Amino acid sequence: MATRPERLLLASVHDVCPRFEREVDRLLDLLHPHVGACIALLVVPNHWCDSPIVPSSPFARRLRRWADEGMEIFLHGYFHRDTTQHRRAATRLRARIMTAGEGEFLGLSRLQAEDRIVRGRDLLEQVTGRPIAGFVAPAWLYGPGAKAALAHCSVALAEDHLRIWSPKMGRQLARGPVITWASRTPLRLASSLAAAAVLRQAPVDILRIGVHPPDCHHEPIVRSIEKTLGAAASGRRPGRYSDLLARSA
Ligand SMILES: [Zn+2]
Repeated sequence: MATRPERLLLASVHDVCPRFEREVDRLLDLLHPHVGACIALLVVPNHWCDSPIVPSSPFARRLRRWADEGMEIFLHGYFHRDTTQHRRAATRLRARIMTAGEGEFLGLSRLQAEDRIVRGRDLLEQVTGRPIAGFVAPAWLYGPGAKAALAHCSVALAEDHLRIWSPKMGRQLARGPVITWASRTPLRLASSLAAAAVLRQAPVDILRIGVHPPDCHHEPIVRSIEKTLGAAASGRRPGRYSDLLARSA
């Protein structure tokens, strides 16, 4: 009889940068009891062009400590802000509706994307003293230039809303939803709470939970995150994204 693949829970904290240090601490406190150090930190080198990570700064030293504790460090865009003029109306609409202007890697050319990936990767690797685990585009939005750049830079792991893949190997590693919360409008907040309640019961092998700094300012979201972690952790081992590479080797 074929053995069932191990079920994993993958937790991530988005938008890790000096600006959100307090929120990141709160989110780590929420996640730790459920997943220990099995946490992916999605780090932005210079959030909105005015929250730079400076090597040897106190924040950079914390980042290194988190990596030393076993957390995975992902590059998460460079500025986390969409600075390109989107030519096609559909792309423009998608960028605006889905991201409030934060789809940084949606409209970049391959060379532009590559420049930011290389600079961001160099910075994070200098700060943490180890290779990055992978790259996640802000708002999970990748244009063709970004996808080509990731493959060209041999990035080990990437993910979007629906799947995790290895640009380096050119192979999909897992499919399944990522549970996330939104608080920009009351309607989005309500629908993200409802979606989390359904998705945390989903019978998927790889379940992802992604939390963002604003989440911790909304008590209903905090309660939903705790409930979701509890439900998702039952019957799943807290894992690391790199476990998927080992599984597919
Ligand atoms: Zn983000």
